[in-house]
Amino acid sequence: MNLHRPAVELDPASLLGGWQALNATATIPHCLDNIRRTGVLANFSRLAEAGAEAPQGKFTGFWFADSDLYKTLEAIGWEMGRTGTDQWAAVLAEAADLLERVQTSDGYLNTYVQGTAGVEPFEHLEYSHELYCAGHLLQAAVALHRGGKDKRIFAVARRVADLIVNALGDDRPLIDGHPEVETALVELYRETGEQSYLRAAEQQIERRGRQILPTGGFGSAYYQDHLPVREATEAMGHSVRQLYLAAGVTDLYLENGDESLLHAMEQLWDSAFGSKMYITGGHGSRHRDEAYGDPYELPPDRAYAETCASIAALQWCWRMLLATGHARYAEEMERALYNAIAASMATNGTAFFYSNPLQLRTGHDGSTEDSPSERLPWYDCACCPPNLARLLASLHGYAATSDTTGLQLQLLSAGTFASDTLTAVVETGYPWDGDILVTVSGQGELAIRVPTWAAGASLAVTDAKVIAEPVPGEYVRVSCEDGATIRLTLPMRPRLVRADERVDAVRGCVAIERGPLVYCVEQADLPDGVLVEQLRLDPSATITEERDQDAVRLRFAAVARPLETELYKAYQPDSPAGTPITVTAIPYHAWANRGPGAMRVWLPLA
Ligand SMILES: [Zn+2]
Repeated sequence: MNLHRPAVELDPASLLGGWQALNATATIPHCLDNIRRTGVLANFSRLAEAGAEAPQGKFTGFWFADSDLYKTLEAIGWEMGRTGTDQWAAVLAEAADLLERVQTSDGYLNTYVQGTAGVEPFEHLEYSHELYCAGHLLQAAVALHRGGKDKRIFAVARRVADLIVNALGDDRPLIDGHPEVETALVELYRETGEQSYLRAAEQQIERRGRQILPTGGFGSAYYQDHLPVREATEAMGHSVRQLYLAAGVTDLYLENGDESLLHAMEQLWDSAFGSKMYITGGHGSRHRDEAYGDPYELPPDRAYAETCASIAALQWCWRMLLATGHARYAEEMERALYNAIAASMATNGTAFFYSNPLQLRTGHDGSTEDSPSERLPWYDCACCPPNLARLLASLHGYAATSDTTGLQLQLLSAGTFASDTLTAVVETGYPWDGDILVTVSGQGELAIRVPTWAAGASLAVTDAKVIAEPVPGEYVRVSCEDGATIRLTLPMRPRLVRADERVDAVRGCVAIERGPLVYCVEQADLPDGVLVEQLRLDPSATITEERDQDAVRLRFAAVARPLETELYKAYQPDSPAGTPITVTAIPYHAWANRGPGAMRVWLPLA
C-alpha cells in the first residue's frame, strides 16, 4: 500500500467541521489560558530567568507538565496550516524564546528534571516522562514547521532529537515508561529525511519488553515493557501507553516494511478492538492503572475509557489504514470520533471529560476519581484537553486517503477532498442523514467507505462507471469522468445492538445505534418519578425519529419496572410487568449537557 493524505477542507456546517471551528475559537484559547494559569509556562520562565544560577521557586504540576504546552503548540501548528491564521504569533514567539533559553547546550530540555534539585537527565525514565515530553515537542515542531511559519521551535526540537540519538544509543539502551517518542521520531524523520531519527525510533521499539525499567508496584505491562513488540499481541497495561506504542510500531513498519511488525500489530489490533473496546470506541476499562482489563471485561458504569486512549486508538487506526487500506480501521476511527471522543467535550468547547463511562448511576459522585458527572474546565493531570485540541485541529487530515489511482473517502463528511488527479465535493448531512452526494472534477477512481451497518446501501452515478457496488464494510469504487456525480444512500434506521455474551456486565441488554452514533437515555428525558434504573426496552417497539435542530433524537416505548425493596430475594420466573412509558434517547456524545444526572447506554430488555 502507498496511501497518502490528500488536501481536505471540512465543511464548517458539518459536525466534524463545526468541531474544528469550535476548537479554533474556544478550545485552543482555553488551553493557552490554562497552561498559563496552572504554572506550565512558569516552569519554563523560572529556568529561563535563572540562567546559570539556581532557579527561584519550585517546579509546578506533574512531571509531564511540559507536554501540556507542546500539545497546545501542536494544535496551533495544525490550525495555522489549515487556515493560515497568525493570531498566535506572539504566543509562538514567547514559547520559542522560552524553549531556546531553557534548552542546554547539549540539547537537553525538560523543566521537571532541570528544575528539580538532585534529578539528573534520563535517570528515572520509568516515571519521568522525559522522552514522552520530548515526543510531544517533536510533534509540535513538525506541525508548526508544516504550518509554514516556524523555524525556531523546529530547531529546538531537532536538537532534542539529536540528543536522543547521541545520548541513548546502543551504549545506553534506555526506554521511557510512557511510549510516545517513537511515533514522533518517525514523523520528524519524514519531515527532515534524517535517518538517525528513524534509527532511534527503531531502537526505542526494539528495546521494549526486555524489562529495562524497574516496575515498582505497577508491573512491566503498565510500562509496555512486558514482552517484545512482536510477542506482545494482547492489548495490556496502561491503555494510552499501549496505543501510542502501537502507533509507533505501525509507523516504523510504514517506513521499514518489516512484515513481522505489521503481523504483530494486526494480532494486537484484534485483541484491542475485538474483545477490549467499548461500543463507544472507549479503551481501557480499569480505573486502576488506567489499564486494559481482561477480554470482555467491559463494565459500563465502571468504564475508565480515558479520552486520550480513544484519541490514541484513532491515531493507531489511521496508521493501520495507511499500512493496509482496510476499511475496518477507518470505521473504528469513526466510532471513536463520533462517540467517545465527541462526548469528552462540552458544546462550548471549554469543558471536558477525562473518563468516559457508558452509565452513570443515580446519585453517583466520581469527583474524586477524574470521573465526574459533569465535564470540568481542566484537570490536575491535564493530558486530555490539549490532546483533543491537537486532534481536532488536524481532523481534516484523517478524513481521506489518496494513491496513484485516485481518492478514498474514509470519514464521510461534507467538504472538499483533493488528490493529485481528482477533486470530490461532498454534500451531506451525515452523520444525521445518510444521503451522500459527490461531485467530481478531474478523472480517476473514487472510493467511498461503506460502513458495516449500512446493509441495503444504494448507489446512483452519472458520467461514471461502477467498479464495485456498495458492500457493507468495504469501499464502493467508481471510475469517474470530469463532472461525474455519485449519490450513495446509506440506510439510517435505528438499530438494536447486543454485546458478545461474555461481556457479562451488559448481558440481556441492548444499545441503540443510528448511523455511526451510539445513543443513550438520560434522566432529564424521563417522566417525573421514573429513574433510569427502572427502564426496560421492548425490542419489538418501533423507534421513531425526531429532528432537534440538526441532531436526531429517538423515541420508543419502554416499561418502567417498580423499584425493588430487597437486595436479594427468592427467584420467581415471572417478574412484575411495570408501567408503559415513552422514552427519548439522545446521542451519547451529547450527554451531560443539561446538568448532572443518571445516564445509560445499555438498556435491559423487557
Ligand atoms: Zn488524557
